[in-house]
Amino acid sequence: METINITINGMAVEAPKGSTILQAAKGAGIDIPTLCYLKEINEIGACRICMVEADEGRGARLVASCVYPITEGMKVYTNTPKVLEYRKKTLQLILSDHDKKCLSCVRSGKCELQKLCHDFGVDDENKYAGVTNEFEIDDSAAHMVRDNNKCINCRRCIAACEKTQGIGVIGANNRGFITEISSPFGMGLGETACVCCGQCIAVCPTGAIYEKSDVDKIMAAIADPTKHVVVQTAPAVRAALGEPFGFPMGTGVEGKMAAALRRIGFEKVFDTDFAADVTIMEEATELLGRVTNGGVLPMITSCSPGWIKFCEHYYPDQLDHVSSCKSPQQMFGGILKTYYAEKMGWDPKDIVSVSVMPCTAKKFEIGRPDQSAAGVPDLDYTMTTRELARLIERCGIDFKNLPDEAFDDPMGESTGAAVIFGATGGVMEAALRTAVWKLTGESNDSPLEFKEVRGVEGIKEATYEVAGMKVKVAVASGLSNARIIMDKIRAGEADYTFVEIMACPGGCVNGGGQPQVPASVRNFTDIRAERAKALYNYDENMPRRKSHENESVKKLYAEYFGEPNSHRAHEVLHTKYVQRKIHEI
Ligand code: SF4
Ligand code: SF4
Ligand code: SF4
Repeated sequence: METINITINGMAVEAPKGSTILQAAKGAGIDIPTLCYLKEINEIGACRICMVEADEGRGARLVASCVYPITEGMKVYTNTPKVLEYRKKTLQLILSDHDKKCLSCVRSGKCELQKLCHDFGVDDENKYAGVTNEFEIDDSAAHMVRDNNKCINCRRCIAACEKTQGIGVIGANNRGFITEISSPFGMGLGETACVCCGQCIAVCPTGAIYEKSDVDKIMAAIADPTKHVVVQTAPAVRAALGEPFGFPMGTGVEGKMAAALRRIGFEKVFDTDFAADVTIMEEATELLGRVTNGGVLPMITSCSPGWIKFCEHYYPDQLDHVSSCKSPQQMFGGILKTYYAEKMGWDPKDIVSVSVMPCTAKKFEIGRPDQSAAGVPDLDYTMTTRELARLIERCGIDFKNLPDEAFDDPMGESTGAAVIFGATGGVMEAALRTAVWKLTGESNDSPLEFKEVRGVEGIKEATYEVAGMKVKVAVASGLSNARIIMDKIRAGEADYTFVEIMACPGGCVNGGGQPQVPASVRNFTDIRAERAKALYNYDENMPRRKSHENESVKKLYAEYFGEPNSHRAHEVLHTKYVQRKIHEI
């Protein structure tokens, strides 16, 4: 690797050629603050917080370190009085038109702007007081709220929506002092073809965009003695919930999560992983049916509601490729209010079905039509991993010191196949474990691991020979990657049998509802890979690792559904999709 020699604050530093000053400084143990910069997503050098002095032989001058490349012999100064004063003034200017309600702000304590103001000793002195904007709050979308009074125009959200997701329903409207981030033609976000993925929220440094919350309604239901309030938790939640409580990224906290939910007051603490195993039973059967009966191929997974909404808006002509299986969250709710309600003698109307998800699109999904197996909605409320972390704090639960507790039975039992649903390639691998087992005569020796579909790459392909048949699969995560696969399918150029698509890059571990990670960490850590490790670790240590081995799922079929894809299974576990237009809900 070719390197370049520079000095930073008088210290000799060698860094790879092509590095920016920011990257070279990080390598030397110096974190230069940023607000707009997001590696490979938003490299616009606009916020000016990362300014440093750089001398290339013509005297020191201020440059934006996030985009300025190092050159041989360059002298960099990251903390001169001039640099520190410049950053302080920039923060004062931002605060001069900022709704500074830190005490109640959803991001307080985890806000990148607030931290910088603290680090630089900038408070509400309003040195540049004058005219201020009063932007209208946009709460038209099902999943999130935009409060531009707390926006710093860093444009990270625009880049995530446009580049990572290939959607582009938000942008900077107006110019200069009255610039605001919003949707085209004055539309509310809910009127656009936003897919509710929440990737914009995940990268926002402030409290300007945040998920809509039903936590107060959930707590009211828990306090109501006539209600049975039951919670399920998605696989990826356990891989990230520890982060706000100081656990290193990638630490699995399943046992503490179950213990915390019990202490909040949920009557039953169940696991969405149970329904992930059911999903595999249904999806693998549907796939084999399509293969043997000449059905539409490739079949595409249907677990990710952001992906489903994307397909409905942007590829409505391709919906017959999508599996008819409800998502695991919705399957769980359907089973809860039919099978489990019958077993317990509960009236489905008295059950309040709650989920904890790494996903903001779930807030849209619970309101979809055709998701009411028992005549009442399968799900009543859903909260994100972030909302659960805040609720745990609000309820005074000492998360770090909780004992590890198990889920309740029977909808707490799951296999290793289910827990890897949270990482890109996980649904594919889980489905292959069961489909190959079926195709090879239900042999105990059928393969367990399909490592070709693991990893954080945006698109992965693999071909397997199974029982004399060639099975070509593809896995895509992040919707700009989904577009590449879908364009191939639409053009008739794809020879895949089965495709997995997840809306969020890296899958649910990096979902729009997961704890936000500051840019100082995000720019130098692969969040997707770190969190996925926790899930593969669970998988490796599970006594059963194939969905068809789940004893409670076998019992569910024996007692209630009969066979996968049976008439009753279709009524409770499957759904239909709608054709949507762009810029129309
Ligand atoms: S966005 Fe940050 S600085 Fe602004 S009110 Fe919220 S916590 Fe405070
Ligand atoms: S939720 Fe997703 S689609 Fe909607 S604005 Fe944010 S990034 Fe774009
Ligand atoms: S909403 Fe957040 S990410 Fe988007 S421009 Fe404003 S501060 Fe930046």
